[in-house]
Amino acid sequence: MTHPTCAACAEPAVYLDRAAGEHLCADHLTARVEATFRATLRGPGGLSGGERVAVAFSGGKDSSVLLHLLASLAAPELGLALVAVTVDEGIAGYRDETIAWARTLADRLGVEHRVIGFEEACGSDLDVLVRGREGRACTICGVLRRRLLQQAAHELGADRLATGHCLDDEAESVVMNWLRGDLYRVAGARPTGGESMVPRTKPLARLPEKEVVSYALLHDLAPELPECPYAHHALRSGIRGMVHRAERQSPGTLARIVAGQSELEARLRGLLPPADFSTCPDCGEPVLGGPCRACTLLGGALEKH
Ligand SMILES: [Zn+2]
Ligand SMILES: [Zn+2]
Repeated sequence: MTHPTCAACAEPAVYLDRAAGEHLCADHLTARVEATFRATLRGPGGLSGGERVAVAFSGGKDSSVLLHLLASLAAPELGLALVAVTVDEGIAGYRDETIAWARTLADRLGVEHRVIGFEEACGSDLDVLVRGREGRACTICGVLRRRLLQQAAHELGADRLATGHCLDDEAESVVMNWLRGDLYRVAGARPTGGESMVPRTKPLARLPEKEVVSYALLHDLAPELPECPYAHHALRSGIRGMVHRAERQSPGTLARIVAGQSELEARLRGLLPPADFSTCPDCGEPVLGGPCRACTLLGGALEKH
């Protein structure tokens, strides 16, 4: 069997783009990932010159690629000031190694790095918070982690919060919103948050996870790390399997789901009656009635901002 060669230069291929039916070598895959990243950053919801950007940096492959691209390409090109923020959920046997890696990479890239613990911010580690309700661990963790990242970004004076969501995550979210019947999210009309909300940006949102992971492997951004012990419980992991099966059967499905969603949001903009949002009595975040999910989970332990 002959080894496949790059469609652009005939070097040995390391990657197959199934949607386009073409193989790419390490250099051409790198060039493609970096070009998509730059285009996303300069597109709607991207970054402008001189901004202070908080980077949600778990230490996983996606956020390691995000931090690497922001530090090595975007920061010098756009004059950005970066601060990486890692949330330590307190998950035994999983988090210590990823946090050690996160410190190493932030250091290697010369990026200021903060670690925030669930224990100080919420009163307990995730392992304690989810005891007896392990099946909801990812939901609970996600709600609290998003809140802590927002608070940190606000307190650090960031103009933007960059997250490592890739194309697969975006497609999964679209499908998840439909499966939950979450009309306001389907229509892209959820409240954007209170006055202290730092707007998010997702510079990897147009990159398939496969490209991100391949880039991570090629650029020494993917050490062997343990997997989160709660990951298999999530509704998302079922949806992930579903959209990946669809992508395998019909390459390009992920990109079509996300493109369809953007089109839908653009067409629906302004057509949906405004939701009756109120503010959470405990923390002041905008909600659709009652205390917010973070305060409900914690019984009001979060600080008011
Ligand atoms: Zn090539
Ligand atoms: Zn609240």
